[in-house]
Amino acid sequence: MGDYPLYDDTCYSLELNCKAHITEWGVEIAFGAESDVMFTGGQVSKGAKVHDCVVEEGALVPEGVKIAGERAFPKIVCADSLAQADELFDPTVIAYSGKISGQTDSHNGLPVLSALSKGEELLSLVLAKAFPILPQSDPDCCSACGRNCYQLAGEILQGLAKREDCVLDGKSDLILEVGGSAVTIVPFVQKLLRDSVLAFVDNLKDIPPTGDISIKVRR
Ligand code: SF4
Repeated sequence: MGDYPLYDDTCYSLELNCKAHITEWGVEIAFGAESDVMFTGGQVSKGAKVHDCVVEEGALVPEGVKIAGERAFPKIVCADSLAQADELFDPTVIAYSGKISGQTDSHNGLPVLSALSKGEELLSLVLAKAFPILPQSDPDCCSACGRNCYQLAGEILQGLAKREDCVLDGKSDLILEVGGSAVTIVPFVQKLLRDSVLAFVDNLKDIPPTGDISIKVRR
């Protein structure tokens, strides 16, 4: 992990690569491998999966803001310069880190914290700002809260909205569980499935007109 200190109960993506010359092809090829690593109790826990690491009250910090784009979660921008910090700024950014932490303590009204010298502060900020991840629905499929997930995440972080404003979680009229875990379904598909099941059940004989309906599919 180089100079970065490891904290208990945190997860990392371990990226390895090596290069080899392929004689038959006459070129050098890079081989990459990536593995989830959980650091807990002062030790590396082998075989951990990232989703196992997202514990209650915990947070997942993905890598790559540019790749994340308009994703609906809090972000820390690691910037080389103030110009790059401005370029990568969006309403879901909660702090800056990286090379600019040697230049200023705040930028765009956000703290600038070095991961090397202010790791604890950075971690506290992440835990303070983190909220249960939004469904990340395609904007074409869901705008039931009056915005898209990215916009709601930004408003939550600005203190203008609450996580509960997502009307999809746990409040829908159709709940799908796969392997015991609830699966979020966009309103359009929910309505389609619900209407289909209701139409089928309503056509059965001697079925009471009220009461919840459960279907279990074995596989
Ligand atoms: S209701 Fe929830 S899932 Fe739908 S757009 Fe809003 S935040 Fe996203």
